[in-house]
Amino acid sequence: MSKGTILLVEDQPGFRRIYHDVLEHEGYEVIEAQDGEEGWQMVKSRKPHLVLLDLGLPKIDGFEVLKRIRADAETKAVPVIIFSVLGEQKDVKKGLEMGANDYTVKGFYTPRQILSKIKGLMSQVEVKPSINSYKLKIDTAQGDANKLQNEIGLVSGYQCPNCKSEMVLELLPDYVRNEGHWFTAHFVCPQCGKSF
Ligand code: CA
Repeated sequence: MSKGTILLVEDQPGFRRIYHDVLEHEGYEVIEAQDGEEGWQMVKSRKPHLVLLDLGLPKIDGFEVLKRIRADAETKAVPVIIFSVLGEQKDVKKGLEMGANDYTVKGFYTPRQILSKIKGLMSQVEVKPSINSYKLKIDTAQGDANKLQNEIGLVSGYQCPNCKSEMVLELLPDYVRNEGHWFTAHFVCPQCGKSF
């Protein structure tokens, strides 16, 4: 299991490569976007645990990406570390005021220093196993549904309101959303067959 997913939004391939390697080596899953628009789309679709965000980006800049992240109920809590350029203190100030959690100065902080900031923020984030890895098992055996229930921390011990038996979680892949890792979950009573 990865320690979590980090989205790197950076238009310079050299910087992407450095941070990708360092973070992957530490056990994080790293995904990349090359411009602000792609970055914002990936925040929405991939739900990273943390975003490393360059400010000077093609299409839409890092400030606009940050603004969208903080304005959207689904993404507003994701930690964001901005990459700034040395000497641009006003950018750092603006980024922090807009809700960035921290900043680094590009080419000035070593990857190790940046890593320690990332580790600090990631330690506050709850990383759950990727649902994707259970995709094939979910609809084959109830035992796997129980395992998933435990792994992702869903509450067990629900009693059937009808017959008081312990209910089990049933998971069904939800292809309507066009992505394999979505599923629909509901509780089923093994005794009387009621579901919720
Ligand atoms: Ca840039």
